[in-house]
Amino acid sequence: MLIDIHTHSISATGKKSIQNLYKDFQSIEIGRFYSIGIHPWYFDEDFESQIENLISYANHVSVLAIGEAGLDKICKTDFELQQIIFSKQIQLANELRKPLIIHCVKAWAEVFSLLEKGKVNVPVIFHGFNKSKSLAHEIVEQGYYLSFGKALKKESIKEVVREIAINRFFLETDDADVKIEEIYKLAANALSIDLNSLSLQIQKNAIDIFGTSFLI
Ligand SMILES: [Zn+2]
Repeated sequence: MLIDIHTHSISATGKKSIQNLYKDFQSIEIGRFYSIGIHPWYFDEDFESQIENLISYANHVSVLAIGEAGLDKICKTDFELQQIIFSKQIQLANELRKPLIIHCVKAWAEVFSLLEKGKVNVPVIFHGFNKSKSLAHEIVEQGYYLSFGKALKKESIKEVVREIAINRFFLETDDADVKIEEIYKLAANALSIDLNSLSLQIQKNAIDIFGTSFLI
């Protein structure tokens, strides 16, 4: 079984996918899995009701994680407001005891500091990791997880995967036009292990953060 921890497409059969939604939470179905959150690119003008709406769906049994949530210094959204809304989502994840999936662009120090201030007590996954070895180490040393997607095509990211402990990462397709099988092959190749051992390891990692019910 190949787990796709973060995708924007509807899950295909035979895979365990966590579909990400930043709106249309009413479309959540039993029997599928989701992460839901307010993405810094997509704040409504009336963000207060957007948060209320998120809160009202977040405890749904099909929602496994909160996010993607975080900070993005490239987008035009007011940075103050991004920090307020991110903090509220850290709090929500803590209250519901659901892992938090992070979107971070050029705001690493601020994300780390808000996670610390918010006393995050759930697993934290930095998705779509595409940065340096040293940053990867910094994330893992703080007890957080990484998730890799199409960036695994790059030699530098293959090196990052080799560097970090195998129990600290996940794989994902995100919004890329790529199959999860391909991402697993890239990672297995980078690690020089067979596909089966890799998929078993990722299943273990998923049990660590979501519990066993996710895999049943
Ligand atoms: Zn995404």
